[in-house]
Amino acid sequence: MAIQDKEICWVSEPELSFWESTFLPAIAQGLKTTVGHIFDNKTVTQEFPEVKPNLPANFKGVHRLNRDDEGRVKCVACFMCATACPAHCIYIDAAEAPWEDRDKYPERFVIDELKCIYCGMCEEACPCDAIELTSEFDISGQTREEMLYDKDKLLSIFDQTVKLPKDPVRTHGGVLGPASEIVQPMPPGKVPPPLPIISRPANDSSH
Ligand code: SF4
Ligand code: SF4
Repeated sequence: MAIQDKEICWVSEPELSFWESTFLPAIAQGLKTTVGHIFDNKTVTQEFPEVKPNLPANFKGVHRLNRDDEGRVKCVACFMCATACPAHCIYIDAAEAPWEDRDKYPERFVIDELKCIYCGMCEEACPCDAIELTSEFDISGQTREEMLYDKDKLLSIFDQTVKLPKDPVRTHGGVLGPASEIVQPMPPGKVPPPLPIISRPANDSSH
């Protein structure tokens, strides 16, 4: 399609006066701004790493695997987090639990922290609050393998962060994800209402 002449906005080069062409007014304006900031006491930069930034309470940083009251990994290897993860960066090998109070536990649990997009879906999906995102963010590694956080590393992050005032904020500071809400017991003889049936057109092949 040909472009009409009236659709084009022609911009002509501005004409500089004699003083403007020396650039002295622009330099003076720049120096005025610089000197103004020298005497302005308002801090606009965060002096990381000497000063840790004050992160919001819902900041989503590195994961941790929580421990139960007996210090065991809380995870029951249900794969809900790995299923919900949009980045497919959680790898779990489930095995028979060595304890009597659960069927399974994660023999291997790895999160690729480089692939993770820190969305928090794993935390939302977990039915037993075994995985949480912490306020830790300044992680680094020399190799890609170092950024694969295994079970021991994820448990050690729990040990490092569990006493920080900010970190248990999602578990202890308010409403949990839908999977963790306390379900009120139904009165005897009552059954829960059926889930709504969503009908789809006959030619819908998306499921
Ligand atoms: S925060 Fe999101 S992307 Fe990262 S592991 Fe959890 S679900 Fe996956
Ligand atoms: S959803 Fe929770 S319990 Fe299930 S595998 Fe993930 S961390 Fe473990």
